[in-house]
Amino acid sequence: MKQKRFLLDESELPRQWYNIQAEMINKPQPLLNPKTKQPVKSEELAHIFALECAKQELDTQHAWIDIPEEVQRRYRYYRSTPLVRAYALEEALGTPAHIYFKNESVNPLGSHKLNSAIPQCYYCKQEGVTNVTTETGAGQWGAALSYAAKTFGLECAVYQVKISMQQKPYRSSIMRTFGATVTGSPSMSTRAGKDIITADPNHPGSLGTAISEAVELATTTPNCKYTLGSVMSHVALHQTVIGLEAEKQMEMAGEYPDAVIACFGGGSNFAGLAFPFMRHQLKGQHAKNIDFIAAEPSSCPKLTKGKFEYDFGDAAGYTPLLPMYTLGHDFKPANIHAGGLRYHGAGVIVSQLLKDGYMRGVDIPQLESFDAGLLFARTEGIIPAPESCHAIAATIREAQKCKETGEEKVLLFCLSGHGLIDMTAYESFLNGDLINI
Ligand SMILES: *Cc1c(COP(=O)(O)O)cnc(C)c1O
Repeated sequence: MKQKRFLLDESELPRQWYNIQAEMINKPQPLLNPKTKQPVKSEELAHIFALECAKQELDTQHAWIDIPEEVQRRYRYYRSTPLVRAYALEEALGTPAHIYFKNESVNPLGSHKLNSAIPQCYYCKQEGVTNVTTETGAGQWGAALSYAAKTFGLECAVYQVKISMQQKPYRSSIMRTFGATVTGSPSMSTRAGKDIITADPNHPGSLGTAISEAVELATTTPNCKYTLGSVMSHVALHQTVIGLEAEKQMEMAGEYPDAVIACFGGGSNFAGLAFPFMRHQLKGQHAKNIDFIAAEPSSCPKLTKGKFEYDFGDAAGYTPLLPMYTLGHDFKPANIHAGGLRYHGAGVIVSQLLKDGYMRGVDIPQLESFDAGLLFARTEGIIPAPESCHAIAATIREAQKCKETGEEKVLLFCLSGHGLIDMTAYESFLNGDLINI
């Protein structure tokens, strides 16, 4: 019997994050201040974000950035995460492909988001910040941040989209269990919220309203910073622990991937798994050409159908202008269950890499994603997050091509989270109520 799970010893865990910006041949274009149209400086970003995160955001010089000792210590609570060979899925598909997945669902919060919540709270604490704030739609980022903030003794205020708070009540219970204050957005607690409610008392809320409120709270409260769980380059940086571990674990398995696959919302789990492997390509260190595949929902197809242009990162237009593939910051994605993938833009690093042909996007209809998730659950015994189902569906497409050609390709995908708090989505799918939107 060949080995199924691969884990690293504590001594082998990464001590540095990989900053791909430093090694890209075409650097990402600068973020622009929307008023002056000049490149933003880290001091400007630091009005909203922790200063160290603001510096990391714009760092195109250092390929390796030390992970603070304290952050390494907290990573050891749940890292390394297992690299797993999906023998049962391979068998069910009858494919000659070797399928591996990096299981980021096995931490107490259930998704990869914790990998960035920990360093963001650490830097805030170091810099004398006492409060952190954010918005959350689906709730994964809000949950990870609430826990990380509590462990660093920071107060955490989360604005959750009002409608998703009502539809998914346990999400806010999770955040409140970790000690966060959760407010449905739009709320009467901010100027922006009051204006929205005055104009429309029944406004259901959106990520746009929640971002506006969180940013307003951060800019009007002393010692309060705003945090983001995806899209930004410093978040991608923190997530590279995923791929750096996977690199060693694939070596333990005696294999090298032909394809590296992840679902795509704002790009953080994709970047986390892919960038350390893409480094081999950028530096010409490996003869094999890896096919990097980002799987997005058909209903929010910025990679395959978006335009490369300067756009805001949020609906309200508070962020700098970002050079990226986008569907427009006023794009309103359909209400699919993969809440974490309902984002209009692709982030600046991934957008440049896509433009330069290092990777490709594929889009997955909602029903295909749940078909894939169900097959994965029934074979490997893990119920995947609706977001992760997109990566599984893209992997299955590749595995089926291998079946036709007889190629024994090595496919590696990221299981970004489990779906145990998304059972209402599975319930509708099993009842036949889900549609392709
Ligand atoms: C947030 C989330 C995503 C999407 O975000 P990325 O930044 O694209 O990784 C994917 N999967 C899960 C489980 C999430 O919580």
